[in-house]
Amino acid sequence: MAQKKKIGFHMSISGGVFNAIGEALDLGIETFQIFLKNSNRWESPPLKEKDIEKFRSLWKSNANLSIHGHTGYLINFAGEGENLEKSMLLMAQEMNRADALGIPTLVLHPGNHKGAGIDTGIERISENLNRIFSENPGKVKILLETMAGQGTSIGHEFENLAAIIEKSDYKERLGVCLDTCHIFAAGYDFSNEKLYDELIINFDKTVGLKNLELIHLNDSKKQCGSRVDRHEHIGKGEIGERALGFFLRDERLHEVPFIMETPVEEDYGNRENLKVVLEMMGERSPGSGH
Ligand SMILES: [Zn+2]
Ligand SMILES: [Zn+2]
Repeated sequence: MAQKKKIGFHMSISGGVFNAIGEALDLGIETFQIFLKNSNRWESPPLKEKDIEKFRSLWKSNANLSIHGHTGYLINFAGEGENLEKSMLLMAQEMNRADALGIPTLVLHPGNHKGAGIDTGIERISENLNRIFSENPGKVKILLETMAGQGTSIGHEFENLAAIIEKSDYKERLGVCLDTCHIFAAGYDFSNEKLYDELIINFDKTVGLKNLELIHLNDSKKQCGSRVDRHEHIGKGEIGERALGFFLRDERLHEVPFIMETPVEEDYGNRENLKVVLEMMGERSPGSGH
């Protein structure tokens, strides 16, 4: 029998990194993503040895869980000078943490060129990725994320990510994370089945489906082509259930874990979004029977 499709969420690590595993089990999800450090700070206290052990032993007894990391927002591999050196240091810490926890993949926003131009930005990102891999052997793979195209961010076109990988000396340690909200905001229209199919063919021709290791399944508060990155609950945004359903039911993506980074509000959060997604896939909601 084919393995069950893995669906989950970005989870909080407050109170200890292992807490995310407990919450995932409670929700009944098969995959999740966490930050390994405070996502808006350069400095974070090191992970405690006993927290790492607790995380690893909990994961071992729930080995079916697929766990991913997301890097902090300050890292800019398209930067220069002091900012780049700080990014390098932070990224090395993130990679060390991922390896310590046994997390196989780390999602990275490729970078902001800050006026230097997309081509220069792509060159820098590729060179700086070569440098980080050569200085930090380890195991963790870096997943370049598709971006919405806000400001001078790189990665709003599949060709950007394809070019970064193409120029890399460490292709085997790179992959891609596709965010449905980001590509929609960037201008990719997949509102009907034909457009969706063309999108996947386009992705395969540029980035390659073999490099697609993770999907961020998010609806969008903003319109297609708005270039504004604002996540919305599944089915409640501009993309809608119909178009998000194309991804969920696509056999070509069956093996790829789907992570939602949807808002968590007092009366509507992960449980509600999970219920919607399971219904879209034609599965019964969790806890509704055995
Ligand atoms: Zn992201
Ligand atoms: Zn986003």
